[in-house]
Amino acid sequence: MPDTLHPADIETRLLRPGSAAYDAARAVWNPMIDRRPAAILRCASAADVQAGVRWAVAQGLPVSIKAGGHNVAGHAVGEGSLMLDLSGLRGVEVDPAARVARVEGGALWADVDAATQAHGLAVPGGLISDTGVAGLTLSGGVGWLRARAGLTIDNLLAADVVTAEGALIRADARQNADLFWALRGGGGNFGVVVRFLFALHPFGPEVMFCAPIYLASAGAGPIRVWRDHMLAHGDRIASLIDFETIPESPDYDPAFWGQRCYAMAAVPNCDPDEGERLIAPLRNLGPKAADFSGRIAYRDLQKLFDAMHPAGKFRCYWKSHFLKTLTDEMIDEALANALANPSDHSISSLWNFGGAVTAVPAGATAFGARDFGWMYSLDSAWERAEDDDRVRGWTRAAWDRFRRHAHDRRLYLNFAGQDEDSADLTRDALGGTFDRLAAIKAVFDPANLFRFNQNIPPAR
Ligand SMILES: Cc1cc2nc3c(=O)[nH]c(=O)nc-3n(C[C@H](O)[C@H](O)[C@H](O)COP(=O)(O)OP(=O)(O)OC[C@H]3O[C@@H](n4cnc5c(N)ncnc54)[C@H](O)[C@@H]3O)c2cc1C
Repeated sequence: MPDTLHPADIETRLLRPGSAAYDAARAVWNPMIDRRPAAILRCASAADVQAGVRWAVAQGLPVSIKAGGHNVAGHAVGEGSLMLDLSGLRGVEVDPAARVARVEGGALWADVDAATQAHGLAVPGGLISDTGVAGLTLSGGVGWLRARAGLTIDNLLAADVVTAEGALIRADARQNADLFWALRGGGGNFGVVVRFLFALHPFGPEVMFCAPIYLASAGAGPIRVWRDHMLAHGDRIASLIDFETIPESPDYDPAFWGQRCYAMAAVPNCDPDEGERLIAPLRNLGPKAADFSGRIAYRDLQKLFDAMHPAGKFRCYWKSHFLKTLTDEMIDEALANALANPSDHSISSLWNFGGAVTAVPAGATAFGARDFGWMYSLDSAWERAEDDDRVRGWTRAAWDRFRRHAHDRRLYLNFAGQDEDSADLTRDALGGTFDRLAAIKAVFDPANLFRFNQNIPPAR
């Protein structure tokens, strides 16, 4: 691809502080994030990205990269950086015969699902349609297809990357294989991915969705049954227990509004008839506020939780732990935390992992060892700035208490907290791959130009 943008032309295209367009472009999903890049370049091509990187280097500015802007810590927006806004790079091309999709670096999962489901195919993405493909993929990617097809990175075949020198290179199993390995779990440390090549899987258009909503007064018993069911069928079902508060919605009897509950959400990775049989034992385990189980189009499933996570509405702090096993004690603690959470807008979850996720060998990707079976995540959300310390403090304390259960102190870097990043946290999170990543960082980004991420400092 030719590098057509002259540095002098860049100056005329930059958004600078003081304009409404600048403020709109620097806004991200979590409204707590209020960072001010030195300038913003809206990129519409790989050549724009290359020119932007070279311009930033010439100015002595670090580079931040915004794709979907969903990162709760706000890593997309770097204070004093040149921010590359990739929202003009959302193209998706599907080759149904070869079962691959080429996805540009600023695409959202809704873009991918629309293009791939037109052919009855899917890339394993996340649970929310307006999350960016890039950020989610580069740190792993956990969604409904994981038992069948693994994490999103397990389906990455190649990436086109603009490096810290402004070069556009291909990384795959044959060319720049170290970089390709690093991109599969090492986050946005190594360059700007302008295009991903993903493997596609036949899935949908209709799938079975399990969603009984148990009242918290049902206690932990149904969750223990769920745990045992996932141990038996985790290679065929992706599931999570979502602890929530029942909203004032016509979908629920007003008698339940405001009560704490948990959704037992699950998607079997087989045809809907078989899926219905697989989830049947989960649907009548205690007192329920509702049951939203049924057949659903995969594209609609991918948007089903969007309304619970509106962009820019709630102030947010998210943390997580990977767990090797899920004991009764952990279930009791997760339920007690859900009851004690100071905000009705918060969610917390227990996620199962099995099948294709855990089949990947430890060294195969930078994500590291797959010897965990579960994840506990705390997604706290609240409305008022005055509640920041109270809700964040409570969440941090609950996460700290739970840490004794964490498997090798690991956590999911896409749910890692904020303002607490450190090389130690990142080292703990990655299952034994940090040193190799630091060596690869030293090759591709020795000056740490790309530092607005869970940073891996270049090895000396
Ligand atoms: C509502 C919500 C739901 C979520 N659900 C899930 C889920 O189901 N499963 C899951 O796994 N995660 C989930 N996440 C977490 C999500 O994966 C991370 O927040 C991820 O960082 C978002 O990607 P993004 O592209 O929107 O991020 P951004 O905020 O745009 O960027 C995040 C990081 O990636 C870097 N980056 C962005 N684009 C590029 C690029 N093209 N090349 C190199 N680096 C880049 C940025 O510099 C930054 O460091 C969810 C988050 C939210 C807010």
